Amino acid sequence: MPSHTDPRTSLAGVDIPLPGLDLSPVPTPAAATRRSRPYSSSLPPTQAAIDAFWSRVVKAPGDGCWFLISAISGVDGYTRLTWRSGGISRTESGHRFALLLAGQLGDRVVAEHRCNEPLCVRVDSRHVIASTQTANLRYAVACGRTGTIRSPDQHINRYARSIAVREALAGGWNPEAYARARGNTAPLDTPPLF
Ligand SMILES: [Zn+2]
Repeated sequence: MPSHTDPRTSLAGVDIPLPGLDLSPVPTPAAATRRSRPYSSSLPPTQAAIDAFWSRVVKAPGDGCWFLISAISGVDGYTRLTWRSGGISRTESGHRFALLLAGQLGDRVVAEHRCNEPLCVRVDSRHVIASTQTANLRYAVACGRTGTIRSPDQHINRYARSIAVREALAGGWNPEAYARARGNTAPLDTPPLF
């Protein structure tokens, strides 16, 4: 894939069903955020949105992930937050919202999970970092999760996993329930691959 390709744009390719599978077209995130009501991708977070965000964060102890217990998009299995102000709305994934609060969500920034936990919203060099599309794709390749970018099956799998993790942690941090829900993903202490 050329380095300038926006992975969000490239998702437009996923609505081509795989041979032998009857998959409904998966809307792209761009389509999901295209709304008839006024929408602004630059709407600042409201205090109510910030308060709601933190009230839904479950923190694993120590250097662990901070999980956002929130809506999860069926499009990509990541969390979603929508807020409104003055009749205008904006939707972001939880990890992008976290970067926004940290003042790190610049125009071309891609939020990257170094911990490979889709629900994680901890802005930290071992968890959620502000990255570039090129670096994000390279890291995905290194982690063997290029499929999460291209394959609708992978999106569905991540959605199911995210739902399971959210259910496991809805009542607070629970390491046993999390271990069951996370499945066979890389453990949190997996060292960076490069
Ligand atoms: Zn994390």
